[in-house]
Amino acid sequence: MEQGTQGPPSASDAQAAAPKPVPKKPRKPRPKALIDENGCTGCDACIVVCPVDCIFKLDGPEYPGVNTVCRIDWDRCTGCTICVRDCPWETIEMVKPDDPGIEEKILSYKVS
Ligand code: SF4
Ligand code: SF4
Repeated sequence: MEQGTQGPPSASDAQAAAPKPVPKKPRKPRPKALIDENGCTGCDACIVVCPVDCIFKLDGPEYPGVNTVCRIDWDRCTGCTICVRDCPWETIEMVKPDDPGIEEKILSYKVS
């Protein structure tokens, strides 16, 4: 019987056979929910439905402590869109954080 000429695989054989790492594409930032505080009534509907509890209240401009508006913590917003669907005043929209002009839009939506 003929003896095989190949020995056990060497370390370099194993290296050559190993799958090459696929370079990772940079991830695009997820859309985030943004409240136009000029239209927000502070009704709490978005706070109640947000699954990650990332919407908070702050004093509105007219009667601090009485009328309130809501703002969203973008570090925690997952972009699920539930608040957009449930806001009765249609004052929440989804935006792309890297859109040109987004900073100006955020500033124009803030009441305080
Ligand atoms: S549901 Fe709309 S109007 Fe009500 S607090 Fe939230 S953003 Fe404001
Ligand atoms: S998009 Fe989802 S996670 Fe973000 S604020 Fe609205 S309900 Fe919360």
